[in-house]
Amino acid sequence: MTQKRRLGIMGGTFDPIHHGHLVAASEVAHFYSLDEVVFVPTGLSSHKEGRKVAAAEDRYLMAVIATASNPAFSVSRVDIDRPGPTYTVDTLRDMRQIHGPDAELFFITGADALEKMLTWHDTDELFELAHFVGVTRPGHRLADPGLPDGRVSLMEVPALSISSTECRERVHSGEPIWYLVPDGIVQYINKRDLYRADAA
Ligand code: ATP
Ligand code: MG
Repeated sequence: MTQKRRLGIMGGTFDPIHHGHLVAASEVAHFYSLDEVVFVPTGLSSHKEGRKVAAAEDRYLMAVIATASNPAFSVSRVDIDRPGPTYTVDTLRDMRQIHGPDAELFFITGADALEKMLTWHDTDELFELAHFVGVTRPGHRLADPGLPDGRVSLMEVPALSISSTECRERVHSGEPIWYLVPDGIVQYINKRDLYRADAA
């Protein structure tokens, strides 16, 4: 019998994608022996109201650029092609549809995003669709006693104190983001003149 395909899913605004995202995906992929990690940039994010988010197409292309060299990483358009705000439950339903009932889905998320997720409605369906892996982020404690048994795992990854917010603020004020994001992302941000005005 062939083994089930083990698929990581990393949703995010990726505005821009940075090395924190890439390290988290790589660590989880290694620890859980994942065959592939799919990065899924959000459409209109339901959680980013009040600030301007870079165009979906720019965020998508940056995700493609950042993951191009890794054969186990790919990028999906499901969330940016679906009209309206992105809900994780839709992402997971689409992934289930695309990859079939035999795929094992692992949703990779930072501790901050996981905390928010547990306050949402309909978490039962979420936990049926995928196993959730919450990774540590600097400034966020893990170990929530309310985590549902067996459906959520917590994992420590090397602390990378990088956030997209900080990257945008740095670009806005003319500070370097070299080595916080892949080289191609620095170049793409320059080329497209992202985050210079109305940043953060
Ligand atoms: P922003 O500052 O705009 O919120 P972000 O850096 O948090 O951006 P997102 O696109 O919001 O990036 O995050 C996508 C996912 O990656 C979330 O689950 C988030 O918790 C996780 N994540 C972001 N940065 C890190 C990091 N440095 N280490 C581990 N996980 C991270
Ligand atoms: Mg965030």
